[in-house]
Amino acid sequence: MLITKLWEMLRSKISPEPVDHEKLWNQLVKARGCIKCNKEPKGFYEGPTGGMSVNVFCTQCGQGYNLSPIIHWAELIHKDERYIEAKQSK
Ligand SMILES: [Zn+2]
Repeated sequence: MLITKLWEMLRSKISPEPVDHEKLWNQLVKARGCIKCNKEPKGFYEGPTGGMSVNVFCTQCGQGYNLSPIIHWAELIHKDERYIEAKQSK
């Protein structure tokens, strides 16, 4: 499983076309947080980690990101709907 992931990361760096994970990473760094909402204060909370990547979720809109800081790699994942529901019911 880790091998598959590493291969995907490598391929995404070599291949000129598909999803540019490094571009997404740069957008996140530039925005200093979530790029799906512009709510302040920006922040992430940490979800499950595996290997050298970590899942984080926006504390405002729940948008998830899978990050590999070492290689500046980012991928959009699911929204944490349960977190948002719990936040709204407060
Ligand atoms: Zn957000």
